[in-house]
Amino acid sequence: AGRLQGKRVFVSAAGQGIGRAAAILMAQEGADVLATDRDVAKLRGLEGIETQGLDVLDDAALRDAITRGGPFDAMFNCAGFVHQNTALTCTDDEWDFAFALNARSMWKAMQAALPAMIERGRGSIINMSSAASSIKGAPNRFVYGASKAAVVGMTRAAAADVVKQGIRVNCLAPGTVETPSWEERVAANAEEAGGMEQARAAFVARQAMGRLARPEEIASLIVYLASDESAFMTGQAVVIDGGWTL
Ligand code: NAD
Repeated sequence: AGRLQGKRVFVSAAGQGIGRAAAILMAQEGADVLATDRDVAKLRGLEGIETQGLDVLDDAALRDAITRGGPFDAMFNCAGFVHQNTALTCTDDEWDFAFALNARSMWKAMQAALPAMIERGRGSIINMSSAASSIKGAPNRFVYGASKAAVVGMTRAAAADVVKQGIRVNCLAPGTVETPSWEERVAANAEEAGGMEQARAAFVARQAMGRLARPEEIASLIVYLASDESAFMTGQAVVIDGGWTL
């Protein structure tokens, strides 16, 4: 039997990158996955997986998807956006958007999922943070780091609130992962770096291992956190970063 046999799992931002890899691996491990993304077209090709269009910034739609689609044994809140800015250049709109998507949407997802989890006395919530958060200061990641640090704080606080009810809340803190949005960040940095290859090399150089993560390597951690193998772990920010924070 798979490591997630019999588990119903919710995933946001499952259209590409880490969310997609996680949805696929969790389904391979026997989970009954509900894969959601704002962009329905990106959910195509997720063979044998239930899919649903969902913008996590829409509170009512998020609550509806979680309460109707559940009860869930595990939830992976993956949706997030990487602004490249500093305390000087960050705009009010960037601040509001980053906190709405990267932090508030995860609170709203937990708020929708927790009642059924509490009733059943079990559940594993996994939030997407980043090594660029309370863990590491990364240049040009001002509001991103602030909002991902909020995810760490929210995760620990929520874990403390539900630990007696059998529910675990953890987050993960990856280094740089090769995904479509990372490609966009490379392109955005190309001019300043002196070309695409130079921009790519700058990201790779940050990782002590000299390479980026593949989304599948991050998905393995998500399977572990969703499964009962991690039953004694809660409130943690699990760093998986190729040695970036060494
Ligand atoms: P990505 O950024 O390439 O793709 C994100 C997906 O999210 C897309 O399919 C998009 O349609 C969807 N999405 C965007 N806004 C949404 C919304 N409001 N509601 C629902 N879906 C929405 O994927 P990625 O790079 O794997 O990033 C996923 C998460 O991992 C993010 O939270 C990101 O901050 C985090 N992360 C990424 C890296 C990295 O290097 N790629 C590192 C650490 C953490």
